[in-house]
Amino acid sequence: MSIIMGRGDEAKKAIESKGGNLDLKKAFIRLKAGQSRKVRVLTPQDYVAYKAHGHYSKGVYTQPCIAVAGERCVLCEAANYDGDLVEKDKDGKSVWNQMYAKKRVLFAFVDLEEDMIRVFDATKAQADGLIATIDEYAEDLDSIAFTFKRTGDKQETSYTLAPILPNKMKEVQEVFDKYNGVEVETKLFEEALQARTTEQQAKELQQAGFPVKDVLGIEVKVAASENNEDEGEPIDENEDPTKDF
Ligand SMILES: [Zn+2]
Repeated sequence: MSIIMGRGDEAKKAIESKGGNLDLKKAFIRLKAGQSRKVRVLTPQDYVAYKAHGHYSKGVYTQPCIAVAGERCVLCEAANYDGDLVEKDKDGKSVWNQMYAKKRVLFAFVDLEEDMIRVFDATKAQADGLIATIDEYAEDLDSIAFTFKRTGDKQETSYTLAPILPNKMKEVQEVFDKYNGVEVETKLFEEALQARTTEQQAKELQQAGFPVKDVLGIEVKVAASENNEDEGEPIDENEDPTKDF
């Protein structure tokens, strides 16, 4: 079983390898409002849906639900718990409820400016528009490059793919052509998603302030030397992933 829905089966390996050989600092396309990059979309299938947990204000970064891969997902358990041991909002609901698994979509594009295949992580709502554009140009992806652009901030954030006009193609044609016949491996998506093990999830939850031992019955041991451990790259560091749902 895979952490991604509908592509590949390397999830368990990805969970153990924590990013594998992928350079996570470079793998993600991150844009600020108004920024854009020129990209090539290799095929109409180069994206995957997955279920994500995250709690922006508690510092739990967007990460895949591992229940999808048949593992114990304590983020699901923490999100579903509504007993007395956790912090409540003004309506008496657990503040952790908002961490429930939500559908997100990870795209792979050739970044024509960096000359490499990179990924972009989108909410379901952001992804719908991008997929519509990809489908619209599905027949012409071998000849058309796009400007991938972010507009707006916070709740207003949206992303668009706009075809580059033929007379502008010459600026990117050389890099574009290098990727003829190149395929995006499923492994890229799995590695970029940085699925945690159950134990790693429990540790992150504890660091975020969730009563892991009392609610989940898991004893987290954090060695002093682990406190400064590199936890990898956040998939989505500047948006509240809960906002679109
Ligand atoms: Zn889960």
